[in-house]
Amino acid sequence: MRFETEAVHGASGPDPLTGAVVPPVYQTSTFVFEDVGKTRGYDYSRTSNPTRKELELTIAALEGAGHGFAFATGMAAESTVMHLLKQGDHVIAQEDLYGGTYRLFESVMNRFGLEFTFLDINDRRSIEKAIRPNTRMVWFETVSNPLLNVVDIQMIADVAGGHGLLTVADNTLPTPYLVRPVEYGIDLVVHSTTKYLNGHCDVVGGAVVTASPELAERMQFLSNALGTCASPFDCWLVLRGIRTLPIRMRQHEENARAIAAFLNAHPAVKEVFYPGLPSHPSHQLAARLLKGFGGMVSFEIHGGIPSVNSFLRTVKYFALAESLGGVHSLAEHPATMSHASMPEEFRKNAGINDDLIRLSIGIENVDDLIEDLSRSLAAGQRQ
Ligand SMILES: *Cc1c(COP(=O)(O)O)cnc(C)c1O
Repeated sequence: MRFETEAVHGASGPDPLTGAVVPPVYQTSTFVFEDVGKTRGYDYSRTSNPTRKELELTIAALEGAGHGFAFATGMAAESTVMHLLKQGDHVIAQEDLYGGTYRLFESVMNRFGLEFTFLDINDRRSIEKAIRPNTRMVWFETVSNPLLNVVDIQMIADVAGGHGLLTVADNTLPTPYLVRPVEYGIDLVVHSTTKYLNGHCDVVGGAVVTASPELAERMQFLSNALGTCASPFDCWLVLRGIRTLPIRMRQHEENARAIAAFLNAHPAVKEVFYPGLPSHPSHQLAARLLKGFGGMVSFEIHGGIPSVNSFLRTVKYFALAESLGGVHSLAEHPATMSHASMPEEFRKNAGINDDLIRLSIGIENVDDLIEDLSRSLAAGQRQ
């Protein structure tokens, strides 16, 4: 099956019991035993649930991995992965990380004795220099948020492989439609299914996939032990979202390309960050690694904070909201919203400036979106 077909049909196809084309929501906490000590494969929904299983197998199939796990949120997925480690272990992570991941590492996991080094993850030498005897994991985002830097997945897999380090790729932004990190030998792929996989701004969810049976066994144990799993209804909604992932991704990108070109030519715009633009530092890598350039566009506006504020107050079709990857267009200010949990100096070092605005391009008519941006940029400049 090709990607689009697999997205629609899911891992198992129609419900074997009734023939329902859409697998049902098994909204149950517990399952009756056939006999003492004998189940039909399910006993309690924290451990496993058929609706969740269908989502897990479907995401695993789309990522080209054998095993998948669905979680209550992207952060629940990440927290569970971090429990693969133990006190005293050291993690290397990229500096322009999702703000919530940075907070999990630096405000929660560090209190359990984990150590973190943040660096420019495309710099092979600095990764090699940062490796210590207690280093266990390299964590990166295939496409970073909000600057949309693309990571050289093959290089990371090579360096980590040479030192026996576990590799984790957060593949939320590109989704498996654009790139499948497992094919490069990455051990664990993490998702916030809240974003493109569900795609309709009506669920928070997370997922982890792996090709390794040993890691899968440990993830199943941890998911059950920590209780971080997703609810059956949320899994059912994410499955519905996934059926249209390929066509949504194509429309997100078509709109994003037009908007990136519009912003790039606008006098009120200082700099545009879109991997599809030849001026983006990751353009070559993106063209080589990704099937497309995606639907996120960030830009710096002239005029500082007053311009940022009046732009964000004027946009009409772009909702002033966190999150990304849904059919609705969203605009946000990383410095005070999605990346507010990073200390200012760290954030600026990572290149996330105060005049940066991040757009998640939806699938509305692109002319409406461009008119909205045009009006709001003009308002920003009247400040
Ligand atoms: C949103 C996001 C997360 C966190 O996911 P939640 O579902 O909000 O918990 C993690 N990584 C990236 C790249 C994200 O965009």
